[in-house]
Amino acid sequence: MKHTIRWLLWMLLPAVMAFLSSCNTTSDKPDYVLVIHGGAGGINKENISAEKEKLYRIKLDEALKAGSMILQEGGSSLDAVEAAIRVLEDSPLFNAGKGAVFNENGEHEMDASIMDGQTLDAGAVAGVHGIRNPITAARAVMEDSPHVLLTGSGAEQFAIKNGLSIADSSYFFTQGRWDSYQKIKDKHGTVGAVALDREGNLTAGTSTGGMTFKMAGRVGDSPIIGAGTYANNNTCAVSATGHGEYFIRNVIAYDISALMEYRGYSLHEACSTVIREKLKRMGGTGGVIAVDKDGNIDMEFNTSGMFRGFVKAGGEPKVYLYGKE
Ligand code: ASP
Repeated sequence: MKHTIRWLLWMLLPAVMAFLSSCNTTSDKPDYVLVIHGGAGGINKENISAEKEKLYRIKLDEALKAGSMILQEGGSSLDAVEAAIRVLEDSPLFNAGKGAVFNENGEHEMDASIMDGQTLDAGAVAGVHGIRNPITAARAVMEDSPHVLLTGSGAEQFAIKNGLSIADSSYFFTQGRWDSYQKIKDKHGTVGAVALDREGNLTAGTSTGGMTFKMAGRVGDSPIIGAGTYANNNTCAVSATGHGEYFIRNVIAYDISALMEYRGYSLHEACSTVIREKLKRMGGTGGVIAVDKDGNIDMEFNTSGMFRGFVKAGGEPKVYLYGKE
């Protein structure tokens, strides 16, 4: 008899362990999560001064705090993503909003998009040059128009009609970007945010000036839903940065979600397969930030660094620049 009971317990052990660990996963799920990026590329200790490094860390921290304050108070992931991205767009340090790079004509053409993982609604603007906060314009397209993507002057007229803040080209001028343009030097610095709120809703957003010296009229991956931005409450929210043409051709953000949805990959498996294997094999450089419906995060890139950070409910914001930190 004793032997049978012992044998029964022994047989049940794996099931009990699995049950306990599933309970653990559920209770480990953070109430909210916010992850941000400020672009991927040749970001090394050698090419960033200590002073500049400090500025980047402070600004990323500020963006995380702006977004997490909203999430902490029970606000939506949509509001948090928009707020975090606006902080980065308003900073000349990043290639979005103020600080956007110049195209081949020495002009700014900015792209941005946002996607709501609950409804699968999305909005985007491309090739705009006078809108201070393109992410807010993208959200207005999502919420106040019957369309997903507006470009150029049509997008600008729409923004004006919706009372968005407009600026002339001198606002977007920064000496650093102008010097890069003069040297035709590629500079990354796109910004993005993904968030999970207390209601379990996911949002992703991305904003960029594109690539330095791009052809006038070129549109990158950032405003393309599925390429640079994607969110679905059943899987994850993703924001990308890198050489946009590769991200469009590989439908990077959606591919990560699809691997989770159809193949049952974990967030980390999906992100690393797409960024470290698929994208790399094609010669594409860049990275993604992502959060899944259980609050797991990933910040994956195949470049030397990526400006990035995250904050989870009950924790302090964490910010990173380089590959190994
Ligand atoms: N992905 C952006 C683009 O191709 C640029 C970047 O992220 O650095 O427009």
